[in-house]
Amino acid sequence: MSDVDQSESIITGISGSPGICIGKAYLVDREGVNVIEKYYIRKEKLNDEVKRFKAAVKNGKAELASIIEDAPEELRQHVGILETHMALYKDKMLYGRTIEIIENEMVNAEWALKKVVSDVKGMFQNISDPYLKGRATDIVHVSDRILRNLVGAGDVNIAAINKRVILVAHDLSPADTSQIQLERVKGFITDRGGKTSHTNIIARTLGIPCVLGLSDATSLIKSDDIIIVDGKSGIVVLHPTDQTITMYEERLAQYEEHQAVITRSSQLPAKTADNVRLLVMGNIELPEEVVSVRDNGGDGIGLFRTEFLYMSRRTFPNTDDLFEQYREVVELMAPKPVTIRTLDINGDKAFSYSSNSDETNPALGLRAIRFCLKNPEVFKDQLKAILKASAYGNVRVMFPMISSIDEVIEAKELLKQSAEELDRKGESFNPDIEVGIMIEVPSAVILADVLAEEVDFFSIGTNDLVQYSLAIDRGNRKVAHLYHPLHPAVIRMVKRVVDVGREKNINVVMCGEMAGDPYNMPILLGLGMNELSMVPQSIPAVKEMIKKLNAVDSSLFLTDVLKQSSTSGILSIMQEAYGKILLENRTVG
Ligand code: PEP
Ligand code: MG
Repeated sequence: MSDVDQSESIITGISGSPGICIGKAYLVDREGVNVIEKYYIRKEKLNDEVKRFKAAVKNGKAELASIIEDAPEELRQHVGILETHMALYKDKMLYGRTIEIIENEMVNAEWALKKVVSDVKGMFQNISDPYLKGRATDIVHVSDRILRNLVGAGDVNIAAINKRVILVAHDLSPADTSQIQLERVKGFITDRGGKTSHTNIIARTLGIPCVLGLSDATSLIKSDDIIIVDGKSGIVVLHPTDQTITMYEERLAQYEEHQAVITRSSQLPAKTADNVRLLVMGNIELPEEVVSVRDNGGDGIGLFRTEFLYMSRRTFPNTDDLFEQYREVVELMAPKPVTIRTLDINGDKAFSYSSNSDETNPALGLRAIRFCLKNPEVFKDQLKAILKASAYGNVRVMFPMISSIDEVIEAKELLKQSAEELDRKGESFNPDIEVGIMIEVPSAVILADVLAEEVDFFSIGTNDLVQYSLAIDRGNRKVAHLYHPLHPAVIRMVKRVVDVGREKNINVVMCGEMAGDPYNMPILLGLGMNELSMVPQSIPAVKEMIKKLNAVDSSLFLTDVLKQSSTSGILSIMQEAYGKILLENRTVG
């Protein structure tokens, strides 16, 4: 073949952590373990083969233990997932079964292990549940390490990289990502993975750009190739021309300058040009993200998703485990509010110790509040932890996926019982803790006036509200083009909730992704939303947009929006009325 084509090309993937980086690719190479040969072992040598396998397991475990020990402080929270990997080394399905195959089929350890992994993959293939799929991935990561030890191939030693590079990998395991040293790794891209993958959460935590789900980046890109990663657009430019590099360098410089300016001014309250104040808060999954909310000028935490603290474990946590984590968040934010959402388990997030794999349609299944009401002890353990944390700052409690008044009444009853039990033990808590519900199911929108009688606030979860009202699976790429929060039906639903809130005098917050896109601000402001919560990194751009808008104009604009019958109609009048401001405020990268 002649010289490899070096002309510029663009590879499109899924946007991950935002930002731009330009640099040399570093292919995270797992070759050398891909070609596994099968050979037979004589009967008298079988014991030695099993010993060889056990030694590889032992070495693999030791390597992982030192990765856990050396994990940088900012990633400590993510180490839990690696600890579950430690347990998998001796998992019956992996460990026991491989030994069985070596002995019964009299084959080499590599072959036996490969067979086990391909059986596991086969078993998980038809399961759509992302959590269970994730467990299959965990087994693959663990077996990969054992295999490398068996064949004597080098580890993917990210910690040993000694130049500034952009990692290009088929997939990065949590163990790989936790070794990333910020001074060396500018960003990374992977063939696999999605927005909600653990890898992306770590990238966001580290604040480095990444693009995921590129399919074949590892076959298109070689080490030392120059690439550009644009995390926000989900684009990778391979072999960029000098002109493209200059363009992205300019965009990067602009982005950094713009970020620095808006992050500084984001410490100030967000007010519109006509002096209407909005609260702009952050969504977090883990306690360590509080720093990011504070650094980005968040006015509180509008959504603390608590599922993640349950995920990297083998059993349900007890009240004390949870309380410690909640207290840390609440104290760090005090006196600003922290809204703790009770467990939104199942749907797309399940735990090994409470699997929903038997549900054909988990999004419509025993999810969130439905699961908690069926498991009152698990629920009360969490409610007590939230109540106890309320003694340390400004805590609100919120129930997800409410679809009827009975659920609210029952959940409140369990909250009351939890409070009484704490009271009997002499524990302190705020007896007047504010209680709210997520509005993310169409029935809750329709019943908003009834529900308002029972709660102190509503929080609109547009991620699910769009999914359930437009009947679009939020995780399905094939219908992603139909998923639009600026659908007229969604806007009318939000309007109804805000109107009911005003009429019944209760607070209305929005914590779905719709709230974090500066583009949506004219409409949200026009609707009268005054509390928003979003990914912390979006706070500065949203506050910046708010400053440029005028509440009176926005509410006049909303009248026109409500006359539109389609999303495209809405987008086109948005462009007409706000095109200039939206363009100015477009953040790159
Ligand atoms: C939502 O549904 O909009 C929401 C904020 O919750 P989650 O994304 O956790 O389902
Ligand atoms: Mg939701």
